[in-house]
Amino acid sequence: MTLRSRIRWLLVVAAVSCVSLISIALYQVNRTFLDRLNEQTAGRELQKVEAAFLDQLSVLRVRAEDWTQQPDKPPLKLDGVGHLDLLMALENDRIVWQQDAEALLADGVAQRLAGRFAQSCSPIWGVVRADDRALLFITAVENHCEAYLLGVWLDSAWMSYLSDRVGHALYVQDVSSGAEPVRGLAGESSHALEGRFPLPDYLGGAPLEVVVDLPRDGMGSMATAVIAMIVIMFVLTGLTVIVVNMRIHTMLFGRLRLVHNAVRSIARGGALDQRLPVLSDDEIGELAMDFNSMVDSIENAQNQLAEARLQAESASKTKSQFLANMSHEIRTPMTAILGYTELLRGGSLTQEEQKRYLTIIQHNGDALLALINDVLDLSRIEAGQVSGEQRVFSPQELLDEVVDSLQLRAREKGLQLALSASTALPATVSGDVFRLRQILMNLAGNAVKFTEHGHVRVQASWDDEGQCLKVRVDDTGIGISEAQLKSIFQPFSQVDASHSRRYAGTGLGLSIARELARAHGGDITVSSREGRGSCFELVLPLVVASAMPSRHDSQPGVTVLEGPLAGRVLLAEDNQVNRLFVQKVLENAGLTVIEAENGREACREYADNPDFDLIVLDMQMPEMDGYQAVAELRDRGFTGPVLALTANVLAMDRQRCLDAGCDEFLGKPVRIRELIQVCSRLLSQAEASLGLES
Ligand code: ADP
Repeated sequence: MTLRSRIRWLLVVAAVSCVSLISIALYQVNRTFLDRLNEQTAGRELQKVEAAFLDQLSVLRVRAEDWTQQPDKPPLKLDGVGHLDLLMALENDRIVWQQDAEALLADGVAQRLAGRFAQSCSPIWGVVRADDRALLFITAVENHCEAYLLGVWLDSAWMSYLSDRVGHALYVQDVSSGAEPVRGLAGESSHALEGRFPLPDYLGGAPLEVVVDLPRDGMGSMATAVIAMIVIMFVLTGLTVIVVNMRIHTMLFGRLRLVHNAVRSIARGGALDQRLPVLSDDEIGELAMDFNSMVDSIENAQNQLAEARLQAESASKTKSQFLANMSHEIRTPMTAILGYTELLRGGSLTQEEQKRYLTIIQHNGDALLALINDVLDLSRIEAGQVSGEQRVFSPQELLDEVVDSLQLRAREKGLQLALSASTALPATVSGDVFRLRQILMNLAGNAVKFTEHGHVRVQASWDDEGQCLKVRVDDTGIGISEAQLKSIFQPFSQVDASHSRRYAGTGLGLSIARELARAHGGDITVSSREGRGSCFELVLPLVVASAMPSRHDSQPGVTVLEGPLAGRVLLAEDNQVNRLFVQKVLENAGLTVIEAENGREACREYADNPDFDLIVLDMQMPEMDGYQAVAELRDRGFTGPVLALTANVLAMDRQRCLDAGCDEFLGKPVRIRELIQVCSRLLSQAEASLGLES
C-alpha cells in the first residue's frame, strides 16, 4: 500500500472514529439531560393527576350542596356520566334512605361508613372497596349528625373521564400483595414513564393505587436532532478529510515527488546540475537543502575524481615520457662509453686519440652518474630526507666556480655568460654548499642550455634584512609559455618532449632545485616570455659566518695530496671488478692491499694478521656482509679506521654504516680522487690519535 493510500485511510478511519465517538457522547449527554427533564415534568404531571383526583371529591361535595339547596330536592340522576353513582342519606349511624347503594348495603360497607360518620359527625371521605369495586365517597351538608354520602365507582368510564381531564391514561389497580403502596415514578419504556400514587382503603381493606402513563417528551426529537447532527458532522468531516488530503498532497506528496524524481534521475546517472527549490522552512525544505548539498558534494567529488584522473593520466604520461627520456639519456652516454671502449680495444690508435676517447668515456660516465644522482635526489626529496651538511664557504667563490664551469659551453654556443653582484656579498656564510651549488648549476646550466643567442646573466645580492642570498639567472633563450610555467617545477616535466632531443635533460633538475631550496627555507620563482627569455630567482637563507672557509671545508674532495700514502689495507669486496679497481687505486697511492671476497674472509685475514692500518668494506656481500663484518672486527679488537663502500647512498644507509662501527662512508661509484682523499684523511686521523695516545 502506498504512503498516500495509508494516509488517506488513516484520515478516513480517524474521522469516522471521531464522529462516532462524538455522536455517542452527544446522544448520552442529551439522553441524560432529557431523562432528568422528563422526570421533573412527569413528577409535576403526577401531582396534577393526584390533585385532579381529589378535585373530584370536591365536585361531589359541591354537587351535594347544590342539590340540598333546591327546595323540591329532585331525584339525582345517577347514570355515572354525571359522576355520581350512589347517594345515601345518613342520620347518625342510620341510613335514612339511599339511591343505587345496594352494593354498598349488601356488603355492610354502607353501615360501617355510617358508623364512622356517627363517631365524629364530621365530614368523611376516601376510597372503599365494595362488591369488588373501588368507590370514591365523600359526605356533604352535615347537620347535627345528618349528612348525605355521595359516591362514584372508580370504574373504567370514570377513569377515562378523569383521563380526559388530566390528559394522561390512568387506571386503578390493587397494590401487589406484600408490597408497600408508594408514590413515585418508574421507567416503563423509552417512550413513557409510569407514575403511581396510593389510594388507602378508608375502612382498612387492601390498598389500591392509581397508575398514570406519563410520556417521555422530546425523546424522538432528540434522536432526530442527534441523527441530523451526526449526518452534518459526517458531511463536514468528509469535506474536511478531502480538503486535508488535498492539502497533504500538495504540501507533502507534490514536493516529495520532486525530490523523488530528482533522486531517481541522479540514481540513473542523470546530470548533476539539478537542484531542488527550497519552498519552505520545514522538514521537506530541509530535505531539499540536504539533497542540494549532497548533489554539490557528489559533483565536487566527481570533479575532484575527474581532476585526479586527469592528473593520474598526466602523471602516467609524464612518467612514460620520463622513462623514454631516461632511456634516451642513459643510452646516449652508454653509446659513447661502449662505442669508444670498442674503438680503444680495436687498437691502432694514436696516443692522442686514445687519450681523447678515454676522456669521452669518462665524461659520459660522469653524465650517467649525474643522472642517477638526480633520480636519487628526487627519491630522497619525496621521502623527506634532504638533510644538508652545514659548511662555511664563500658565496662569491661558489658563484665564480659555477659560472666558470659553464663558461666553456657558453662560449661554444657564442653566448655571453656574466656574473655580477649588485650588493656586497658576505665573505663567508654557513650553509649547505653542496645543495646550493647543485641549485645554481641547474639554474645557470638550464639558462645556457635553453639559450641559443644573446646572453645569460647571473646576478647575486645579499639581503641583509632577511639574511638570505638572492641569485637571479636571466637569459635571452627560448622562454617558457604561461601554461607551461605551471608545470616546469613538477618532476619529470619538460616543456616539450622534443626538448629532450634538442636539449638533453630529464625534467628533474628544476623540481629538485626548488624542493632543495624549500627544504632549506628558501624558494625559486620564475618569470618568462616565450621566445624572449626567462628569469629564475633563487632566495636562500644563509648564516653569515665569521670564520674563513678553508678549501677543505668548501670542497672536501679537493685536498691536495702531499706525497704517497703508506700502510696495510684490508679490502673486502665481493665484486671482482670493483675490488680490482679499488685495489689498484690504493696500491697506486702507495698502500699495501690484502683482499677478501666477503666479510668472513676479511675476519679470517684479520685473525691471521691483525696489523692493518685501514679496513675498506663493501657493505653488501655474501656469507657475511659489511655490517656484520665491521661489528665482528671491532669485537676482535680492531680500533683503526673502517671505510664503508656501498651502492646504497641514502642518508639512512650512511647512518646505518656509522652505527655498525664504520668511520666513513663513500657511495658507489667511487671516484679515484675522492677515495684516496678519504683514505688519506682516515689514515692521518688514526696516526694523529695514536700519537696523542702515546
Ligand atoms: P631538464 O633536465 O629538462 O633541463 P629541468 O627540470 O631543469 O629539466 O627543467 C625542466 C624544463 O623547464 C626544461 O626541460 C625546459 O623545458 C624548461 N626550462 C628550464 N629552464 C629553462 C630556461 N632557462 N629557459 C627555457 N626553458 C627552461
